[in-house]
Parts: sequence; structure tokens; C-alpha cells
Amino acid sequence: MRKKIIAGNWKMYKTSEEAKQLVTALIRSIPGIRKTRMVVCPPATALSEVALLLKGTPIALGAQNIHWEKEGAFTGEISAGMVKSVGASFVILGHSERRQYFGETDETVQRKILAALGQGLTPIVCVGETLDQREKGVTKEIVARQLDKGLSGLKAEQINRLVFAYEPVWAIGTGKNATPEQAQEVHQFIRTRLTALYDEPTAQGVTIQYGGSVKPGNALDLLKQSDIDGALVGGACLQADSFVEIIKAAESIAT
Ligand code: PEP
Repeated sequence: MRKKIIAGNWKMYKTSEEAKQLVTALIRSIPGIRKTRMVVCPPATALSEVALLLKGTPIALGAQNIHWEKEGAFTGEISAGMVKSVGASFVILGHSERRQYFGETDETVQRKILAALGQGLTPIVCVGETLDQREKGVTKEIVARQLDKGLSGLKAEQINRLVFAYEPVWAIGTGKNATPEQAQEVHQFIRTRLTALYDEPTAQGVTIQYGGSVKPGNALDLLKQSDIDGALVGGACLQADSFVEIIKAAESIAT
């Protein structure tokens, strides 16, 4: 049975002090959440402080990016081992903003997945099409390519250790979410592709989050879809109240 997982991508928001306030408010609001997995992904500068506050709580910590090498002359970068050493257990990889603004490719995503797994981190691997690609009717082709290349050389037992996030680029930060039906169709397709690349149990076992303008008002309908196992939340995770409402929506349908 796949557990729902709600993750917050704080992007480049929150100083250390603001991060502490947000996570303190969050911790206060989640007693009673038993069946939903929760993750917060603050900026790298706040990971250590947030890790201290999260100790002993059910909320896991994630980073937003890593480099694929263990160490080296890579100014401005941080490694999987470094984020792990300050308490992260998840890392977002291949986010469309990294692909669009920082030259992330399917090849670098693949290398980063291996680096993350090598440190025992759980990668949240993001895939999704642009508006232009959706309008051209090539959504599945794009997602298939991202999966084929991004997972190149990975074995089924490594796939079991990943979380996927379907994030249509046109829905990220735009206020315009995919409809539950649109999202469900692509989530189902991701399982079909994983079945072709690996096998049915692997495809059925993986957790696939939806991301793209998830808010308290649309979360439940999205999360009720049979292949949607959670949400990767941007804007709405920056206030404790709205993030907690999304978590509660997931909890309300957890079995
Ligand atoms: C994201 O950044 O992963 C995201 C889904 O953002 P938003 O919820 O703001 O669309």
C-alpha cells in the first residue's frame, strides 16, 4: 500500500530565522497526523537549523538540489553527503526551475540520483512538460524521455527507493493546476513506462506526487486519484496554515 507523502519545496524563500518560525508553527499543527509522510525542503542555508527543530518529529528534511560528485572544485555546489550530514533524508532532483534556469538535464539528473542513493537519500525526481509541449500533444513523449534518460542504468531495487513528482511546468507557480483527470492520466502513464522499463510490481510500488499550484482548495480532489500518492507543494507550503491543510486533506483519505 502506497502511503501519501506531502513535501514542501520552499525554493529560495525564508532566512534561517523565518525558517525556524515556519517549522515551529508546522510542528505545532501536526499532532494527530499518523498516516501521511511529511517532508520540508528549506534552502540549504536553513537545513541545519530546521534539522534541530525536526528532531523527534515525524517531519523529514529534504534538500532542493545536490551536485553529483562527492566533493571537489565546484564553487557554490553542495554534495549529497553534505546535506545528509546536516540531517536531510530527501532531495528534490530535476525540478523544472533547475532544468530551465540552471542547465539541469536528464543526464545530470541521472548522475544526481546515483549520488543521492549512494548516501542513502531519497530523491524526489521531478518530470513534466511545458505548456508548449502539452499543446503540441507530446506530454507523454516528454515524460517518457525524462524517465528513460533520467533513470538510465538504474536497477529495479534502486527505483523502489525513489519518489517521483509529476510537475507540469505550466502549473508551477501559476495558480493553474492540472485537473485531477489530467494529472491522473500522466501518473498512470508514468507507471506504464516504469512497467516497460522495469516490471509491474516496481511500477505499482513507487510513490508519485503531483506538483503544480496545489492549494488547500484543490488538494483533496487531486489526492483522491488512484495514481496520485501525494503532493510536492511550492507556494502553499510557505505558510504553515495552508501546508497543514494540504497535509490534513491527505490524512483524511489515508487508509
Ligand atoms: C514546485 O515548486 O515544485 C511547485 C509545485 O510550486 P507551486 O506549488 O508554487 O506551483
